[in-house]
Amino acid sequence: MLKLLSSTAHTIHHANPSPRVGSNPIKTPLFNALSQLTGWNRSSQELSRRAFCSNQSDAAADPKSDASNPEVSDTKSSSAVVVSTTTTSLDDYQTVIALPLPKKPLFPGFYMPIYVKDRKLIEALQESMRRQTPYAGAFLLKDDEASTDSSSSSSTTCETENVLEKFKGKELLNRMHEVGTLAQISSIQGEQVILIGRRRLRITDMVSEDPLSVKVEHIKNKAYDKDDDVIKATYFEVMSTLRDVLKTTSLWRDQHIGDFNYQHLADFGAGISGANKHENQGVLEELDVHKRLELTLDLLKKEVEVNKIQASIAKTVEEKFSGERRQIVLKEQLKAIKKELGVETDSKSAFSEKFKERIEVNKDKIPKHVLKVIEEHLTKLQLLEPTSSEFDVTLNYLDWLTVLPWGNISDENFDVLKAEKILDEDHYGLSDVKERILEFIAVGSLRGTSQGKIICLSGPPGVGKTSIGRSIARALDRKFFRFSVGGLSDVAEINGHRRTYIGAMPGKLVQCLKTVGTENPIILIDEIDKLGKGHSGDPASALLEVMDPEQNANFRDHYLDVTIDLSKVLFVCTANVIDTIPKPLLDRMEVISLAGYITDEKLHIARDFLVKNTCRDCGIKPEQVGVSDAALLSLIENYCREAGVRSLHKNIEKIYRKIALKLVRQRASTVVPAVSVDVTDTEDTKPLAKTSAEGSTVLTDESATKTEQSEVVAEKVMIEESNLADYLGKPVFHSDKIYEKTPVGVVMGLAWTSMGGSTLYIETTFVEEVERKGRLRITGQLGSVMKESAQIAHTVARRIMLEKEPDNLFLANSKLHLHVPEGATPKDGPSAGCTMITSLLSLAMKKPVRKDLAMTGEVTLTGRILPIGGVKEKTIAARRCQVKMIIFPEANRKDFDELPENVKEGLDVHFVDEYEQIFELAFGYDH
Ligand code: ADP
Repeated sequence: MLKLLSSTAHTIHHANPSPRVGSNPIKTPLFNALSQLTGWNRSSQELSRRAFCSNQSDAAADPKSDASNPEVSDTKSSSAVVVSTTTTSLDDYQTVIALPLPKKPLFPGFYMPIYVKDRKLIEALQESMRRQTPYAGAFLLKDDEASTDSSSSSSTTCETENVLEKFKGKELLNRMHEVGTLAQISSIQGEQVILIGRRRLRITDMVSEDPLSVKVEHIKNKAYDKDDDVIKATYFEVMSTLRDVLKTTSLWRDQHIGDFNYQHLADFGAGISGANKHENQGVLEELDVHKRLELTLDLLKKEVEVNKIQASIAKTVEEKFSGERRQIVLKEQLKAIKKELGVETDSKSAFSEKFKERIEVNKDKIPKHVLKVIEEHLTKLQLLEPTSSEFDVTLNYLDWLTVLPWGNISDENFDVLKAEKILDEDHYGLSDVKERILEFIAVGSLRGTSQGKIICLSGPPGVGKTSIGRSIARALDRKFFRFSVGGLSDVAEINGHRRTYIGAMPGKLVQCLKTVGTENPIILIDEIDKLGKGHSGDPASALLEVMDPEQNANFRDHYLDVTIDLSKVLFVCTANVIDTIPKPLLDRMEVISLAGYITDEKLHIARDFLVKNTCRDCGIKPEQVGVSDAALLSLIENYCREAGVRSLHKNIEKIYRKIALKLVRQRASTVVPAVSVDVTDTEDTKPLAKTSAEGSTVLTDESATKTEQSEVVAEKVMIEESNLADYLGKPVFHSDKIYEKTPVGVVMGLAWTSMGGSTLYIETTFVEEVERKGRLRITGQLGSVMKESAQIAHTVARRIMLEKEPDNLFLANSKLHLHVPEGATPKDGPSAGCTMITSLLSLAMKKPVRKDLAMTGEVTLTGRILPIGGVKEKTIAARRCQVKMIIFPEANRKDFDELPENVKEGLDVHFVDEYEQIFELAFGYDH
């Protein structure tokens, strides 16, 4: 920056030819240099640090200085900068105007601008310039109010002004340090005065008050031996430290300090250091050059330390900045490269775009509160780092929110006739269910909209509960979704997890809406009677909240955390028994029970549905196989005696698989090898053909059948009663009847389980005689209800025996054993009382009951008969066992009357109130 004007002739000549100080201050090269390099608006302190002109400092005559000593007095100096034309020697200035300096003393050789507003003072200074005596004394102010305050003030000039305004004469004098500098007034421009330090002065007396002028003594350095090793060493140490300092500042970097003599070096070092005013004044006042060098060394060492700290701070800040910046730049570059290559668009904006597109399509239908949440999260996504886990969570959440079918309702079928046709197409019978669905459609068509409902289909397995659910969806033209809640104990499966959990997901209902894409699907909730018990939260009440038409218009899934409308959903639940369905749920359901099928119904289902479907599914053409009704009947009677048709279906599939293999084998033996076979898959046929490793074609497909049709005329396979065993093995059941003629003590009862209705024998036998201590032992996996029934039966039987045959003390004197066979099936329920009493009486009277009789009903201690459940199921089960006469409680007459004719057909049914009536029916026959 600012060039130091060296004291060597060469440099002086080069830098500063011969200005006349004061003649034209503005045009002095020094001034020009200053104004160019520093600018006058800079702070004066800064200037004072920057401006140093060693050749103008007074080379205070050193007594020991010799000719080679660069320390020459200014009078002898070849420098023409200041005094070439002056006639007065510096020593002549014994009285000078005193200028106060607030911040820093002026070292000989330095420039310093000060700002003088005081008119008298500036005129006096101008006057002295005019008189070719442009010198004044510059003295640092002591620490007083004015100068301490000045820390807040930014410029030396202003502070000088303040002090001058406040204090005058003696007062001002007292505030100034005694030791100061003889300063050459280099120029005056307006109120700005440029001073150049020349030599040290000490005030001895005051001469005038305003402007303050003082008498001064020119003070000289103490004599020293410049060859002294210690002072030399100090000098070099200052020199090398100074070099370190200069390296760190561009301001003085080009300074040639090698030419400085001892005192110049000390002054220069102190002048450029950032030391405070006291330290600087200390250096100025020190006349022992060695000590001065030491003081300066101290200041410079400090400066080096400060510079080091500064540099390291700057470095760390810079490193930090450059590290972050580097990353940002590299990331941007990577993005740009990827974009250019089309490898990947910016993930954030790609996702945002995707979500925005989704909501744009559906904007009018999405509820406002949902739109708000979506928008909030879209903004949040922009702020998140794509690598953060929060980003993934937000992304998933937005994915769910935007993918749901808000307000999207599919057109429904309100055409009852069309719906009826579809329902009949899919299922045989089930008129109750079909009727209920048609009613639902009728209401919908009258209202113009359909409302949410809960239908519960209850019945044994395989009666078509699930498949009718699917068929309802088809008839209504709604989407279908099925999920099972059997054993479900985690409420979150229904309500969703809160998003704070890792891997959180919405509940099944929301998943369903996403899958189907409409707000009005049919949701089939399977096995609602087997709903588990939750450890935290009750799944039943969660389900209730979901299904209840009163509440589900504002269903809140924990994951979504916004309300969603489920009121358009038609819920269909399935259950084997309704007893275990939680009460509050059951209350809101419309239960339709599917009791099971009688043989005749099964025959229809098998012939018209199961056989046809299986035939198609196996890729066999209907004309290739024939199944006789007799075969189907035998299948139903002897292979799958069940309430539903599931195992019937399985057996039919088994037969058809075997036929398929047979057909394929037949073809394989007649087809020419290496025939290329088309293996394309069509909707109705499955690929069953492949070319074997040897190149011969193995036919396994109907497509092959098509190809080879002309060549092979397959024989039609007939399934008859006679060859059924070839496909299915020996019949599983011969008859449900263990006894052709029921022995004494054995009676057939009717039971109703989750598998449908069934028949069961109750057997009693004599164990031993016990005098007046008749007892009953019970076995057969009975539950507590049945055990109690047995005890009651024993008591009632003894009473009846006493009435009927008072002499017959068999029951009173015997230990008996009552057993209910039927494998290991646990049995319970209040409907076996009558059967047990009858069995006991039969044993006591040694008379078997009427042939082909079955009964059901619970008895009170007084012999009254209580109603039972599952009349249809029990009737069907009784028919399966060729029972001819059934005894039901009187209260169940209505249930029986409502049964379809084909179920009631050919049965001799009796309804009873009192056990007495059963006694008559069971034993009142002639041998
Ligand atoms: P569930 O759900 O009651 O256990 P499914 O719905 O699984 O029974 O039915 C088993 C099979 O029986 C299905 O293939 C179904 O089509 C068939 N099925 C049941 N009832 C009928 C029926 N009435 N008409 C035609 N097929 C039926």
